[in-house]
Amino acid sequence: MKWSAGIAVMSCAFLLGIGSAAAGAAEPIALTVDASQVAGQNVMFAHETLPVSPGPLTLYYPKWIPGEHMPVGPIGNFTGLVIKADGKTIPWERKTRDMFAFQVNVPQGVTRLDIGMTYLGATYGQYSSNRLATTNMGVVIWDQTLLYPSTGTIQDTVFKPTLILPGSSWKFATALTGAHRTGNTVTFDAVTMEHLIDSPLDMGENYRRWELWHDGNASAYLNVFADTPEELDAKPTTIDHYKKLVREMLAMYGARHWRNYNFLLTLSDVMPGEGIEHHESSDDGSAGDYLTNLKALDRGGDLLSHEFNHSWDGKYRMPDGLYQKNLQIPYDDSLLWVYEGMTQYYGNVMSWRDGIRAQKTYPDHIAATYAYYDNEPGRLWRPLLDTAVSAPFLYGAAPGYTAERRRVDFYSEGELMWLKADSIIREKTDNKESLDTFARAFFGQHNTGPIVKTYNRADIIAGLNKILPYDWAGFFKTWVDDISVHPPDGFTADGWKLVYTDKPQHWVKKDNFWYSIGLNMAKDGSIYDVKQGSPAWKAGVGILTKVVAVNGRQYSADTLYNALVESQHSHAPIRLLLERTQTYREVSVAYDGGPRYPHLVRIPGTPDRLSDIPKPLTGK
Ligand SMILES: [Zn+2]
Repeated sequence: MKWSAGIAVMSCAFLLGIGSAAAGAAEPIALTVDASQVAGQNVMFAHETLPVSPGPLTLYYPKWIPGEHMPVGPIGNFTGLVIKADGKTIPWERKTRDMFAFQVNVPQGVTRLDIGMTYLGATYGQYSSNRLATTNMGVVIWDQTLLYPSTGTIQDTVFKPTLILPGSSWKFATALTGAHRTGNTVTFDAVTMEHLIDSPLDMGENYRRWELWHDGNASAYLNVFADTPEELDAKPTTIDHYKKLVREMLAMYGARHWRNYNFLLTLSDVMPGEGIEHHESSDDGSAGDYLTNLKALDRGGDLLSHEFNHSWDGKYRMPDGLYQKNLQIPYDDSLLWVYEGMTQYYGNVMSWRDGIRAQKTYPDHIAATYAYYDNEPGRLWRPLLDTAVSAPFLYGAAPGYTAERRRVDFYSEGELMWLKADSIIREKTDNKESLDTFARAFFGQHNTGPIVKTYNRADIIAGLNKILPYDWAGFFKTWVDDISVHPPDGFTADGWKLVYTDKPQHWVKKDNFWYSIGLNMAKDGSIYDVKQGSPAWKAGVGILTKVVAVNGRQYSADTLYNALVESQHSHAPIRLLLERTQTYREVSVAYDGGPRYPHLVRIPGTPDRLSDIPKPLTGK
């Protein structure tokens, strides 16, 4: 079906195809991105040949970036704009109230504009605008290097992309089709702008590609670019986990909305990591040892599963407030507790089902997640919904006093809420159905290409009621809209209870003092959060402060841990020497509760449904 303006704000779901440009369509915008200088100079040049008609024309630089949920198009890095008509430079003017819009007047008789642009890489920003290239790898995010006319929509504006690689030894990977390489120049099939910006490209010199799955013409690949060839030496057992990930996803959803899926993973100790979802690929990044150090893989084990899950939840089924006709219209982020919350749930569940993480660490994960949100003072003033609506400024919020502000809690508290929904369905259907059944019915459906089918809150409620008739509207009112003193508990009914002990656990290490005296600190003692109302807070400890000594001894996590142990017996306050703005002071923290770490323990004599959740659907 085709886009028509206004449909996006209606409540009905609708279907739109994104894909290659239809034959006979208008002449595409020819876009050449010259990445030949990224390795040495961290800069890209772009050129567009834009078909136009004479008269006033507004050109947009992409502002609201899909998957990032924010107006973070890196406009500050977009420079060198020169627009020519028939070889002559014509003036442009930025709109005074919309800095992402440029106005030009196309002279009579002119049918094409030549637009030159320069993208200054990675000088500021977050997520995709925080990374461009190292000396041997790079990431091309097409929306950073283009302008598009205001007259069209991203669904019907067509680009014909070309890329110039930095060198003959550079390889590339992308979900774009029709790649044809001549020397360092690669051309691709013409695509809609929606598809182009949904198809980033990774390139580099150290590259490996593994086929994870195929069935007929459909396939899934893991593409990895790394700082060094050694970082590509993933063990076959590690790759087997990713093969299993694809099988597990297909087993749960029962259908896919991609033809050939490409994980695009950069491994680097210098280029920042990230995870941005797309229909048929994901733009992922982690540290250099991610695939070769099993501890690193365990810790970040949900990166690829999270982004992969978005192909179903987020891209195929998209909240109607996020699907717009262009990238200048603000998002309504209020359903991110589905888009990101349920993806956080399944991204994690899948990292156990695919075997990257050991089954026995799942209860620790739930304990750690629940405990954090149960000890977050900000939940007493800000409902979960407000963290989603506020996403555009919460993603980049300063780290100090995170627990009072709340962060993008729709991810992990969303995960707890979907665990509770899963628990309710499992309990009330006597384990015959689960949230997987809903996921399959709502996000799986039947095989399609990369299309978008929007939904709203009522659709989610109706979909859940089809699996289990229940007061789902009331459920979301309680856990999304209202202030709730405690986070959703999805484990007690599944046979587990939360306890605190002096033993650190898999995800909450010895250096975590949040559940004892209420401090979150970096390794060197720099405080980035103090829980309001906690013993440390009552003693006057604040942020932008460093703990220098504990009871007269130089600070280390062990020193503080030992002081907490001693205080249980001595009942003497713990003395912290603090450094703040070149000034030292000592405070006394009244606390004798010892070290405290959250755990889930079994409730004897009850069925253990929690342990069923991370078990693979496809067997061992
Ligand atoms: Zn996500």
